[in-house]
Amino acid sequence: MVGGGQAGLATSRELSQAGVEHVVLERARIGEFWRGRWESFCLVTPNWTTQLPGQPYDGVDPDGFMPRDEIVAYLERYAARLDAPVREGIEVESLNPVPGGGFALRTSDGELRARSVVVATGAYQRPHRPAAADTLPTDLPQLDVENYRSPGGLPQGGVLIVGSGQSGCQVAEELLEAGRQVFLACGRAPWVPRRVGDRDTVWWLVESGFMDQTPADVPWPAARLVANALATGHGGGHDLNLRTLRARGATLLGHFVEAEGRRARFADDLAESVAWGDQRYDEVRQQVRRVAAERGLPMPGLAEAGPFDGSAPTELDLNSVGSVLFAGGYRPEYEGWVHVPGAFDEMGFPVHVEGASTAVEGLYFVGVHFLRRRKSSLLLGVGEDAGVVAAQIAAANGGGQRADRISDQSR
Ligand SMILES: Cc1cc2nc3c(=O)[nH]c(=O)nc-3n(C[C@H](O)[C@H](O)[C@H](O)COP(=O)(O)OP(=O)(O)OC[C@H]3O[C@@H](n4cnc5c(N)ncnc54)[C@H](O)[C@@H]3O)c2cc1C
Repeated sequence: MVGGGQAGLATSRELSQAGVEHVVLERARIGEFWRGRWESFCLVTPNWTTQLPGQPYDGVDPDGFMPRDEIVAYLERYAARLDAPVREGIEVESLNPVPGGGFALRTSDGELRARSVVVATGAYQRPHRPAAADTLPTDLPQLDVENYRSPGGLPQGGVLIVGSGQSGCQVAEELLEAGRQVFLACGRAPWVPRRVGDRDTVWWLVESGFMDQTPADVPWPAARLVANALATGHGGGHDLNLRTLRARGATLLGHFVEAEGRRARFADDLAESVAWGDQRYDEVRQQVRRVAAERGLPMPGLAEAGPFDGSAPTELDLNSVGSVLFAGGYRPEYEGWVHVPGAFDEMGFPVHVEGASTAVEGLYFVGVHFLRRRKSSLLLGVGEDAGVVAAQIAAANGGGQRADRISDQSR
């Protein structure tokens, strides 16, 4: 296993159940991704969606949203309870297939051989900056949201946030609360109300089958790069989207196009981006109505998205900005170290069937966004994929019958 996040740990649990000898190599510490979030970070999905095999959410607030440190503590407890064979502080620097079968791994702690390798290095690997980022003045402080910690850590002055997915919007809200002026360059992102009727919207998304959608159910391949639906778990959870941010004082802008000297230019496409998000919300409304009708539940009130004034400045004087924060999502990053020809598609995602690489026998992936389902990279769905992949490894190692049992247990 390469990676000691939830995907690596869940797969380790399933491999242990199958009696498959393995080791989990983690370049930093267990749950490192979560440790790296900003100070006030908390889950957007309710705690009950934490469904790792063998130890679903074990806290006292299933409808709450774990803050950063609680998520890390949960994963540490999970690893300890499983007695997972994790070796922290070991980075896999390269992975090469060996003629005749198996893999050679060069690690920061020496060479290793493995019959099978599961890559679980995260769904969100390389922060993405738009090409136009290079046109910003070099003396203007710029950082990726990865490196944001709290409002006090940013230089004085307004903040231009480029990217309006979950991270960009959550940080925008926090900065507004701290009295900062926020300029938000917006792209397309779905949004949902935090609650529908007396339930969290995620419940409806799970029950409707939305979270179980496969890549084939989604009409366009780049859907894998679309942001998760906007909402927040902060302060117990509430609505968070472009309308709520504008109401709190954010200046909404279209896509960031380029900077010329100290003037930044933005596309005139804010209305289009908001309309796109509103269409996704409409689709969710249809799903909710279908679930309520099928289950005989009271039909919840689902307000229209409502009008939106799409006018927005197309230029910004960068003298009014003290820093630029990039929150434009993530891209896969395997090809720098996984040296397997044909293992990745043109977007850099693994080419696979049920998590097994089609390029070489014995290479598997877990925790990839939309690996098998929409929920594959989430605490909700990674356990199911871990079971499927572990079952294949066990079968390939002569434990077929036992492997079937594992995937049953994980469901
Ligand atoms: C801002 C944000 C908010 C999110 N909120 C939620 C949420 O509310 N609910 C939810 O269910 N999901 C959420 N997710 C998605 C997902 O749950 C997390 O991204 C989660 O961390 C993915 O787990 P993972 O184990 O697949 O990857 P990671 O947690 O990224 O773990 C991968 C591990 O691999 C290690 N690693 C990487 N490369 C190497 C190497 N070469 N050698 C050794 N080790 C290596 C890393 O150090 C890391 O610890 C969110 C994601 C983001 C970006």
